[in-house]
Amino acid sequence: MKRSGRRARLGRVYHCPICGAELSVINAGGAEPHPYCCNEPMEVVELINRVFHCPVCSSEVMVIQEGGGRLEPKCCNRPMIALDAITK
Ligand SMILES: [Zn+2]
Ligand SMILES: [Zn+2]
Repeated sequence: MKRSGRRARLGRVYHCPICGAELSVINAGGAEPHPYCCNEPMEVVELINRVFHCPVCSSEVMVIQEGGGRLEPKCCNRPMIALDAITK
């Protein structure tokens, strides 16, 4: 069985060098996605958007833009857990 070695990574960002469109992986499945835009493959950006998970209701939120403050999302009256999507 051949393995590509690359899996979808939660929060990975893809950028279109032509029009500037950006995508982010919200649900990491087994395979590496290959999004296209403007008839060109989109580039992987080294940026990973952080995702927070609620252990009570399973809601998940993704950070689109970090500010200078200390981000502490809460859900169901509890702090949300930062998913460590960086593990390989
Ligand atoms: Zn484009
Ligand atoms: Zn919740």
